[in-house]
Amino acid sequence: MKPESDNGQKILKGKSISKGYSTGSAFLYQDILSRNLHYYSIEKEDVSRELARIKEAFGRVLEDIESLEKNVKDELGREQAGIFKAHAEILKDKVLLEDIEKELKTELVNAEHAVKNVFRRWANKFRAAKNEMVKSKAEDMEDLSRKVLCSFMRCEVNILENIPPGSVIVARRLLPSDTVRLKRKNVNGIVVEQGSPVSHSAIIARSLGIPGVAEVKGALGEINRGDELILDGYKGTVIKNPTGKEKTFYGEVIDKEKKVQEKLIKKAGNIAKTRDEKLIKVYANIASVEDVKVAVSRGCDGIGLLRIEQLYMYSKILPDEKYLVKNLSRILKPAENKLVTLRLLDIGADKQLPYIDIEDEPSPVLGLRGVRLLLKYKNLLMTQLKAAYILSKDHQIRLLVPIVTFHQEIEELRQIATECKRQLKIRYGLKRKDIPIGAMIETPAAVENIEKIADVSDFLSIGTNDLVQYSVAAGRDNPNVSEYYEKGSDLAMKYIHRVRRSAARHGIECSVCGEMASELKWIKPLIDVGINVLSVSPYLIPLIKDSIRKI
Ligand code: PEP
Ligand code: MG
Repeated sequence: MKPESDNGQKILKGKSISKGYSTGSAFLYQDILSRNLHYYSIEKEDVSRELARIKEAFGRVLEDIESLEKNVKDELGREQAGIFKAHAEILKDKVLLEDIEKELKTELVNAEHAVKNVFRRWANKFRAAKNEMVKSKAEDMEDLSRKVLCSFMRCEVNILENIPPGSVIVARRLLPSDTVRLKRKNVNGIVVEQGSPVSHSAIIARSLGIPGVAEVKGALGEINRGDELILDGYKGTVIKNPTGKEKTFYGEVIDKEKKVQEKLIKKAGNIAKTRDEKLIKVYANIASVEDVKVAVSRGCDGIGLLRIEQLYMYSKILPDEKYLVKNLSRILKPAENKLVTLRLLDIGADKQLPYIDIEDEPSPVLGLRGVRLLLKYKNLLMTQLKAAYILSKDHQIRLLVPIVTFHQEIEELRQIATECKRQLKIRYGLKRKDIPIGAMIETPAAVENIEKIADVSDFLSIGTNDLVQYSVAAGRDNPNVSEYYEKGSDLAMKYIHRVRRSAARHGIECSVCGEMASELKWIKPLIDVGINVLSVSPYLIPLIKDSIRKI
């Protein structure tokens, strides 16, 4: 790192997670519990006013929790709803409120301050307990504390929604749940302290078409809110308070890059062929209506991966069939006449939902996720299947099953799909047409079992983000083992070759929808092993089609 110069210019080094250049003003994003909240002292006569604010916030949170509890009980069962019951009981606990009142009276601090202190004290007390059950309550206290604090600061909850135009987000890391809140047009770049090229921060940056730099150690301490930043998403550097010379240089390269992009977009509507006339379809990975609009305007040949986790994360309650049909119709409207690959919900591991509690799994990444979770919570699965059948009336839908390990999972899912179709026929009197069902190949075991999986699948799609992490046993979001992860892509190429050959033997399509397909250096190797369908971040479609045409 260069020493700090007079104007405070400093170059922070990290790793590129999304290419491109941009400039913007730093917007620091932290978990609400580690933010410096608005604190102030109060007078004795203000205690009752602050206490009333706390009771109101508790009331609002309780209302949300109770409606969630009911909804989760209906969709997932009583056991899953238990966590919300426990949360509601904590908020109704008189001792907690008395403790907060005491804090207000003795410390004479505002409501937010008192809530944060008391919840933290209770969490620490639980954490110190020997009994595991009691210990786990510490997390409940933190979770509830977040909810109550968010409720106080209504607009602050949606801090990312209110991000000012021209911002560069600086955060420890970003989670899938953060994406749903991002006002895309206002974000110019992402800088994170953690994260690898396949982390969620990276996927978010690429899906927004903005540069991203990860592994910038100490970024949150180094960068202040409002600092002027230049991001070089090729070199993986962040310039804080750039000099005049740097501003001129990057201003010019940004202009140049924009012109090149415009040229590529003009040609992107046509199907891409290699020089030796191999036709390569380029599909889009999408999660929102904005993504679909970008994908269509940039010449996608179809939707190769529609992730629905964000839809679930955005909803306060567990989505039912009506909610899914309504929101998916809205998302898919700009993609009329295009093939849509709807991936069934893949939660568990790194993607958690507030209302599905699979806590206490010793190793969640090796736990109940993807199809494993869907087969356990059948109502959750059936809701999605029925929504897909209803949508298939107006869209060319196919279903993609995440984290498949064995062919029996697909077989069981097919039986459930048939049952959903039967129920819809009884309900509406209409026969639904069959929807193709494909397996997502994301584990080495699935590669080993590929012949049997291909026997029962209508298509295959390779999710390299997970396939690599499971192959080299190195977490995709774990900076300590990023070198292992990077080496895993070579191994994944061998797997991809095997899966593609099996798909060819079965006469079914085999696409690659993991981030390897979005990286220019892998395009040729993928085509060389016979892959002819890539599914990529929408913004990258023109660039990827251009690179295919040069092969
Ligand atoms: C993958 O694992 O490659 C993939 C596309 O799925 P996700 O990134 O959503 O886990
Ligand atoms: Mg995956």
